[in-house]
Amino acid sequence: MVPINNSIIKKVYKKIKEYQKIVIARHVGPDPDAIASTTALRDSIRLTFPEKEVYAVGLGVSKFKYYGILDKVDNETLTGCLLIVLDVPNLSRVDGIDGLNYKEIMKIDHHPAEDIKGPVDWTDETSCSTCQMISELILKTPLKLDTKIAGNLYLGIVSDSDRFLLPYTTNKTFQIVHDLIKASKIDFPALYNYLYERSLDEARFQGYIAMNMTVTEHGLGYIIIPSEIIKEYHVDLATPANLINNFNFIREVIVWTFITEDVKNNVYKVSIRSHGPIINKVASLYNGGGHKYASGARITKESEIDAFLKDLDNLCEEYKRASISNI
Ligand code: AMP
Repeated sequence: MVPINNSIIKKVYKKIKEYQKIVIARHVGPDPDAIASTTALRDSIRLTFPEKEVYAVGLGVSKFKYYGILDKVDNETLTGCLLIVLDVPNLSRVDGIDGLNYKEIMKIDHHPAEDIKGPVDWTDETSCSTCQMISELILKTPLKLDTKIAGNLYLGIVSDSDRFLLPYTTNKTFQIVHDLIKASKIDFPALYNYLYERSLDEARFQGYIAMNMTVTEHGLGYIIIPSEIIKEYHVDLATPANLINNFNFIREVIVWTFITEDVKNNVYKVSIRSHGPIINKVASLYNGGGHKYASGARITKESEIDAFLKDLDNLCEEYKRASISNI
């Protein structure tokens, strides 16, 4: 059995039981963990409590439609609802809740805590994904599971842990995945196409990044991707973040970042990954945040890019120096 912090799970379940109307939201620019945790929790609550009104909100992303269709809601009729926020610690990045007059907010998240704080808050930075937490919640309470819900949760875990490669993967992750598969009998190898199928354009775009990434002497890999390149390869602004984990395990690179020009919003979207130095402090200096080894940011002025790269390069230099002196 999965060892769990029972008291917080009980509190979360009690809150869900208490409310007739529940809205579930996640972060802007969702990834599979954000989308799958949202639809899985919604569908599990609906299955368990058919009389409740439960909605999953936020902008839909067509390539993630496998995980389930999101709901259009009428804010008026949802006044006084419970708002459950998944996979995001800061209110400004919650998608789809403008005008919603909720009574209480409850967060379930694996990012470091920020400004969202409700009477019940389940933050577990040791969890590889929000889907791991939702799986744990469902497996340990009367919330029901079906094959589709389990499949969504499995894909969210696989995606956010990068196929169990990232250091957030723990023995608890494997235990929960074991219990999830046992309880639902999902045909997990059949699901990978939903996660990994991509266009030839995207594969070629990955080649473009590999060919054009600069690597500093301290081990910072970076690329600034102009909007024309996004157009030329027929990809979209979310594609660089989807590809960044594929650049792990490059011997010469310790920290790597993709800086993508978003002309429409007059901003540079930044993804950062690390297999050594902790990067989320630097991300937070540039309108960003995230995990210790996987962060994102938004740079509003082109002139800030050099300073941002310098900050990351300094981290790599310090890390290399510390590694040598530890030998
Ligand atoms: P990404 O590179 O977009 O996959 O993001 C990596 C991690 O950083 C995810 O956990 C995101 O939720 C987080 N993140 C991305 N952008 C931001 C931002 N602007 N502010 C705070 N966290 C972010």
